[in-house]
Amino acid sequence: MTPQPGAQSAASRRDHIEDQLGAHNYHPLDVVLARGSGVWVYDVDGRKYLDCLAAYSAVNQGHCHPRILAAMTEQAQKLTLTSRAFRHDQMAGFYEDLARLTGAHKILPMNSGAEAVETAIKAVRKWGYEVRGVPEGEAEIIVCANNFHGRTLGIVGFSTDPDAFGHYGPFAPGFKVVPFGDFDAFNDAISDRTVAFLVEPIQGEAGVVMPPPGYFSRVRQRCTERGITLILDEIQTGLGRTGKLLAEEHEGIEADVTLIGKALSGGFYPVSAVLSNADVLGVFQPGQHGSTFGGNPLACAIARAALRVLTEEGMIENAAAVGAHFLERLRALPGPVREVRGRGLMLAVELEPDAGGARLWCERLQARGLLVKDTHGHTLRLSPPLIVTRDEVDWACDQLAAVLSAA
Ligand SMILES: *Cc1c(COP(=O)(O)O)cnc(C)c1O
Repeated sequence: MTPQPGAQSAASRRDHIEDQLGAHNYHPLDVVLARGSGVWVYDVDGRKYLDCLAAYSAVNQGHCHPRILAAMTEQAQKLTLTSRAFRHDQMAGFYEDLARLTGAHKILPMNSGAEAVETAIKAVRKWGYEVRGVPEGEAEIIVCANNFHGRTLGIVGFSTDPDAFGHYGPFAPGFKVVPFGDFDAFNDAISDRTVAFLVEPIQGEAGVVMPPPGYFSRVRQRCTERGITLILDEIQTGLGRTGKLLAEEHEGIEADVTLIGKALSGGFYPVSAVLSNADVLGVFQPGQHGSTFGGNPLACAIARAALRVLTEEGMIENAAAVGAHFLERLRALPGPVREVRGRGLMLAVELEPDAGGARLWCERLQARGLLVKDTHGHTLRLSPPLIVTRDEVDWACDQLAAVLSAA
């Protein structure tokens, strides 16, 4: 029987529109969210889920945090965008707060994380030519295999993931790829033309891959000896995710350039920033880099509130304490678990390769009210907002144990 046009459900109409009109560059779980509060999100039918992705760590402060929302609405009624052609009254406070918190000496605000990465690449190349005296056009940047730094053409050109770079070339030259965590490979890749090493403190998208102990302190030392700018991409690891403000603190090092984004706005708005310890950002003169929206008054007000909430409400300490408990519970999971790893609330459960693929497990967990994202085929990534409680973590682990023990 042919269905009557009017009998088509709202859900199937919506799916149809999304498939017809939307580019298929994502394969979302089949849940349609309408509302969020703290660690919880609600679908269009009012079903409740614990969000164990937190928008890839952009919502570290929890969904729709009231203090950030208040700062946003207040600023939105006053002034949203001036462009950088004029000064505005929110900028200085934003710089001051970030500098006080991170020790940065120079700051350049952008919007998306990828833009912060692109900005850092431009800055270190220019610094290489103008300060280090590298011959024009020959600067080299070392990066790691299985990196994730964003989706722009400049960035995907040095990705090693065929999905990320395939058929998008030709790409910009000047990048050398070495294995993550292998100090000797990094050391061997250094030349007189090496201006920077761009690396994630923990490789997030690669499946929460941890550096071996001591790796970063050796890298830091060699960078200093050879005049190489160490750029840490803390867009995902930063702002409390690993139980410290910045993941570099676990390694006892300081980057020359730190990239932050995602949780810098608590998920309200794209805000990113390049933080510079050395003179790298000093190379930019007026007109040599910019962004219409970067550093706008609304972004600055939101970011200041997002940082205040993060530090004043004990979220970083909570990430450390609840994260340690979460890791312990994950290590006790039954079923086809190959490895559990992570730090703070940046955690991953790698399943056995014959367990049917992580996506299947995400769907089973969804049915139990837990939203988890698969990454790289067999890994479940767990990164709830940093306000998650011990009880909520216990509940999440009970759901994981229930589906995995039924395997
Ligand atoms: C998400 C992410 C980026 C890119 O950020 P966008 O805002 O999506 O451009 C860059 N680096 C890391 C480590 C990330 O996790």
